[in-house]
Amino acid sequence: MLSYRHSFHAGNFADVIKHIILVEILESLTQKDKPFEYIDTHSGAGLFNLKSNNALKLQEHETGIGKLSAKSFPELKRYFQVIQSFNNSPKVNVYPGSPSIAKYFLRPQDCASMFELHPKDHQSLSKNMENKRKIRVNCDDGLKKLDSLLPPTSRRGLVLIDPSYEVKFEYDQVIKSVENAYRKFATGIYAIWYPVVDRKTIERMEGKLIRSGIKNIQRFEVGVAPDSDERGMTSSGMFVINPPWKLMGTMSTLLPKLAKTLSEDKQSIFKCDVLVKE
Ligand code: SAM
Repeated sequence: MLSYRHSFHAGNFADVIKHIILVEILESLTQKDKPFEYIDTHSGAGLFNLKSNNALKLQEHETGIGKLSAKSFPELKRYFQVIQSFNNSPKVNVYPGSPSIAKYFLRPQDCASMFELHPKDHQSLSKNMENKRKIRVNCDDGLKKLDSLLPPTSRRGLVLIDPSYEVKFEYDQVIKSVENAYRKFATGIYAIWYPVVDRKTIERMEGKLIRSGIKNIQRFEVGVAPDSDERGMTSSGMFVINPPWKLMGTMSTLLPKLAKTLSEDKQSIFKCDVLVKE
C-alpha cells in the first residue's frame, strides 16, 4: 500500500488543528522538569517545503496555515513560534510535521520514538531528526510496536497516532491498539487524529472509544464544510485521552474563531466536548 505521501497535504486545515493541539500538549508536558517520552506512531517526513512540487500540486496549505497569521491569532503565539523556528523569513515556506514540533519541545531529559513505514519518508525523517541523540527513528509499523514501548520508564508520555486511513480497517486497528496501549499505560496522554470523510465511520470509532472503558476522553474537531458523502474530508479532529487540564478551556475559546477562519464560507463548524469523564 503506502501510496499516501504527506508532502502533498502538509499545512492543510487538518494539520493546523492537529498541530495546535500537539503544541498545547507538549507545552504542558514541559511545565514540569520530570522527563517524558514522545511516541509518534505515524511520523511522516518531519519537515515540508511548501514550495516543493508535491506541496504546490494541491496547494492545500493555502486553505490551512495560509489562512492564519500570528497577528490575527495572538492566542496561537507558541504554535507560530514553533513554525517560525523553521523559517528564515516571516513567510511560512517550511512547515514542520509532528516530529519537528516534538523536536522543538524535547529537552535533554526527554526522549522520543518515531515510526515511519514509507522508505523515502523514513529517510527524510532520519535526516530531519539527526543530531538528536534521544530520538529513535524506526522504519517500522508504529501501531504494532506501540505496545512494546509502554509504559515508558518516566511514566509520563504522549502518544500521537496519526494514520492516513488509506484502508478502512485502520479505524478499527487504531482503537484496538489504543485499548491495548491503555491497558499498559493508563496515565499516558493519547492524541488520535481522524478525518471526517464519512461521518458514520467516525461515529463508529467514537462509540467504540466510549464503550472501551477508557476514562477522560475529549474531542476537538473543525469542519471547513458541512458533512457530505460526495467530497473528500470536510472535517478533521482529534480524540485526546488524559488531556492536560487546560486544553478544554483553551480549545473552547479557540475553536469557534479557528473554524470560522478555516471554513469555506465563514460558517463555524466545530465540536469541542467531553466524550468520557475522568
Ligand atoms: N504525523 C505526521 C505529521 O503530523 O506531520 C503526518 C503523518 S501522515 C498523516 C501518515 C504517515 O504514516 C505517512 O507518512 C505514512 O507513510 C505513514 N504510515 C502508514 N502506515 C504506517 C504504519 N503502520 N506505521 C508507521 N507509519 C505508517
